[in-house]
Amino acid sequence: MNPSCPACQSTRTAYFHKMMNQFTYYRCSSCKMVFLHPVPSAKSISSLYDTHYEFTVSDRGKRRFEAQAAHIFTTIRSISPDAKTLLDVGSGPGTFVEMAQSAGFTALGIEPAKNLYQESLRLPITTINAEFEAYFKKNPRKKFDVISLIHVVEHLRNPEKALRLIANHLHKNGILFIETPNIDSHLFDVEQTQYTFLTPPAHINLFSANSVKAIAQRLGISIGTVATYSYPEHFMAVIRRIKRAEVGKKSAAVGNSTKHSASTQTHTLPFIDAHIAPALTPILNIGTKGSILQTYLKKN
Ligand SMILES: [Zn+2]
Repeated sequence: MNPSCPACQSTRTAYFHKMMNQFTYYRCSSCKMVFLHPVPSAKSISSLYDTHYEFTVSDRGKRRFEAQAAHIFTTIRSISPDAKTLLDVGSGPGTFVEMAQSAGFTALGIEPAKNLYQESLRLPITTINAEFEAYFKKNPRKKFDVISLIHVVEHLRNPEKALRLIANHLHKNGILFIETPNIDSHLFDVEQTQYTFLTPPAHINLFSANSVKAIAQRLGISIGTVATYSYPEHFMAVIRRIKRAEVGKKSAAVGNSTKHSASTQTHTLPFIDAHIAPALTPILNIGTKGSILQTYLKKN
């Protein structure tokens, strides 16, 4: 029997793809969620973050992140104008906490990975090196106006259980902000089993907006706003796929080696990459089909 969907609980799920000979992704045909089953052990995942969790922050990456963060704070204030305190769960090197602080929030970060936490210490912010479960256990009455999970929820072994705990620590009318790869995206539609964010065992659950909504509904949280965004490299990935498919069709027709001609053709794209892709990338976001999903949930 196929596993039921961890988000919408539908049993209309099917085998999707097996990776590294051991991690099997299933796909829900109701909410489109793609999820690992069986869920990798807690031990295999925690060892992943102790030793392998690396990060690099380029200048371009930082500028993009700053622009995104400004947009996030504006949206949060449009839904909840009086929000003052913010907790960033999985705060990494602390960039978002720093930006929240600059935007006027009293911000705190929690980060379980030691190396990322240590990196955050160079900033004038407050961060704690802990799992969020342990932090809430120690601070059972602590509540926040905003709790953010940025590229965190896809890593959780039991997202509903985790979000229930997190939601308990939100004030009434508080905002739970979740940013995660969007499975209901053009990027996934073209990449399928080659999808950029299929990276087991780190990425356990890949959500659509409907997957997030299904869990939120069971927690009694309403949806404030749903948005998506994309990066130029996602646009290029889509273009490369389409181009490769076309080249493949042509080569098959003349009996050429598809692989060879496809790879030489894709080398002609750097101009598009540098100049056209950034301008056209917003096209991917039409119909909230962008590569990265942002949901703002409001606690009633
Ligand atoms: Zn589902």
